[in-house]
Amino acid sequence: MKYQSTRNQHTQVSSTRAVLQGLAPDGGLYMPTQFPPFDWQSVLQKDAYGMASQILSALLPDFEDMAALVKKGYAGKFETEDLTPLVPVGDQYVLELFRGPTSAFKDVALSMLPQLITAARAQEGQKEETLILTATSGDTGKAALEGFHDVSGTRIIVFYPDGGVSAVQKAQMVTQSGENVCVCAVRGNFDDAQTGVKQVFAACGEKDLLAGKNAVLSSANSINIGRLTPQVMYYFKAYADLVKAGRIGVGDRVHFVVPTGNFGDILAGYFAKLLGLPIGRLVCASNENNVLTDFLGSGVYDRRRPFHKTLSPSMDILVSSNLERLLYLLSGQDAAYVAELMQQLQEKGFYQVRPAILEKLHQEFGCCWCDDDATKKTIGTVWEKYHYLCDTHTAVAWTAAEQFRPGDGAPVVVLSTASPYKFPAAVLAALSGDASGDEFAVMERLHAKTGVPIPKNLAGLRAKAVRHRDVIDREDMLSYVIEKAGEAQW
Ligand SMILES: *Cc1c(COP(=O)(O)O)cnc(C)c1O
Repeated sequence: MKYQSTRNQHTQVSSTRAVLQGLAPDGGLYMPTQFPPFDWQSVLQKDAYGMASQILSALLPDFEDMAALVKKGYAGKFETEDLTPLVPVGDQYVLELFRGPTSAFKDVALSMLPQLITAARAQEGQKEETLILTATSGDTGKAALEGFHDVSGTRIIVFYPDGGVSAVQKAQMVTQSGENVCVCAVRGNFDDAQTGVKQVFAACGEKDLLAGKNAVLSSANSINIGRLTPQVMYYFKAYADLVKAGRIGVGDRVHFVVPTGNFGDILAGYFAKLLGLPIGRLVCASNENNVLTDFLGSGVYDRRRPFHKTLSPSMDILVSSNLERLLYLLSGQDAAYVAELMQQLQEKGFYQVRPAILEKLHQEFGCCWCDDDATKKTIGTVWEKYHYLCDTHTAVAWTAAEQFRPGDGAPVVVLSTASPYKFPAAVLAALSGDASGDEFAVMERLHAKTGVPIPKNLAGLRAKAVRHRDVIDREDMLSYVIEKAGEAQW
């Protein structure tokens, strides 16, 4: 099994190379040439580590000793050794993905990615430093910094939208220690930062702008297949937990509701399904930036719409990168067609998929969006009814799950992507508490009101010194990267 670009089937590389490069040279995303035959039932018997290594070995076949990489990636970093606990809440289930070192679901992938990149560097004999460029809507940045800090042979630059992340998220990033880390705010929103990063990749690829600087670019965003593939594990894990609890038998269907931004998380669920896991619907839950739910309903992707800043900022995205991978799969791996759609999106701001693809979308996916008022209301009712405290992103998914009534008796699993303490002001306000003032004081008040423990990594943040203060315009991202790459020491 090789990897090939979604925009050109003649670009084929090994899985180690795909992870090292991040983005294909033609601007496409790497995808497996085919999904391997997979014994999905045997995976259900294993623990979380065993599941991760069996799945990753199948999807990234060129890596030697995946079990050792998995162990190094996760051991001792999560609150529980089963990594992603499944919790029954009411008659639904919450899959808690935020028990990692930065309290965001991105830890599941970004604890593994540095291991994969380090191994791929060794196997491919890469001598230059790997320079990781990352745009973040808040959570990827910190999780990537935590994963990569002081990993030898790598450096990482994180760009976040100035004013576009919560105070806690910002504090998590700007206090990051490590000799190989750099954090910079960009004036604009997340799409500006993400587009800027893609343009840096394109410019450096075309003109060899990093020549002589001992650096090769890679990405920690979910455009990197090494970021996406570790997320497949928790769908299997949730399924296995439902079997163990006696809620389902092996072979029964399960539905998943996924709070969605860049379409990485939900696409990992689709990968799990392609590997054989009996998933019913994958329900895409959006906030007011509902470009994806509109698309899943109509087949028209139209980013020409206002950008809303919402209470679930990690989903404030209008250009959803990983959708390209789904289009590639649903079009029967028609790279020329995908390239054409992506060009239309760039030039005209919209595209419409052919009817056969829309039909498949309707078969596989569900969709539902809600605004901030509904999000807050859900946080309040879930707390009142079940004494379960959820964050704003999880609340968007919970709201979608309430509206999604499959009527087949199959369990519904809501993916929970962040700790409520990452967004304490919004969460406390939803519980009608006083959410004014400093966000760290609000965190304490939320704790006093609910008794839910504050994760250690967040509790200690306030006392940490700020180490990163740069703020730049989007137009200056390329020169910033080139300058940084040229500096011997940061
Ligand atoms: C990144 C993120 C999401 C969206 O995940 P995608 O893979 O981009 O769809 C949802 N919730 C939180 C808290 C996130 O950090």
